[in-house]
Amino acid sequence: MRKAGLVVWAAHQVARPLVRPGVTTAEIDAAVEAFFLAQGAIPLFKGVPGKVPFPAVCCISVNDEVVHGIPGGRVLRPGDIISIDTGCSLGGWCGDSAYTHPVGEVSPDVQKLLECTAGVLALAIELMAVRNRWSDVATEMAKYVRDCGFSVVENFVGHGIGRTMHEDPQVPNFCTPAFRRNHDFELEPGLVIAVEPMVNMGSKKVRPLDDYWTQSTVDGRPSAHFEHTVAITEAGPAVLTAPPASGEDAAFVAPVAGDS
Ligand code: MG
Ligand code: MG
Repeated sequence: MRKAGLVVWAAHQVARPLVRPGVTTAEIDAAVEAFFLAQGAIPLFKGVPGKVPFPAVCCISVNDEVVHGIPGGRVLRPGDIISIDTGCSLGGWCGDSAYTHPVGEVSPDVQKLLECTAGVLALAIELMAVRNRWSDVATEMAKYVRDCGFSVVENFVGHGIGRTMHEDPQVPNFCTPAFRRNHDFELEPGLVIAVEPMVNMGSKKVRPLDDYWTQSTVDGRPSAHFEHTVAITEAGPAVLTAPPASGEDAAFVAPVAGDS
């Protein structure tokens, strides 16, 4: 799974330099698709069933779009934020990861939203080393976001991942008594989950757009999304979609510029 995760990480390094004013979201998607094909990796998002099959290899969600945005002719403008979410399988194993990038300069409150969302993902990974149950991690994630003055999206959650992209368990970024009672799970070696907080600046509520896929905030305020595929090993959590560690053999991914 680390190999699939490295290819997903490298795909994000292909996408990141394209995030600038004047570029369309379809151009970014095309670059990621070409990269996956060159790696012999199978894109996981294209063809995901819905009212219409998902048509692209990335979900690209701009500003008030939360998740599941469809790449297209939209041109990025200074001050936008763009969430790029993508996944692939390699050798029969899956990886899934998302980043939200600023396009040029963004306002201070939007910058704070990006930092909060990246921060709550980092917090979750840290806590996975020291907590036994997901409910305890999720409770602290929700508190972190609340303390930032933002809201955690509750309509969408993370997921188990392995041979397929979406497996049990469901991995919410918040905790309810019903979750703790009925759906909680142990953080034990062998577990692999995609942790993916979605944070809204305003209301936590989302609404679908009429393209059958894109989910937007109800109040039109911005939303951010970060995701890593994380394994629990005997030595603790391992981020499978992280950049290559020093000394790690990552030569099989085509060399690309940039860092995580
Ligand atoms: Mg994803
Ligand atoms: Mg995911």
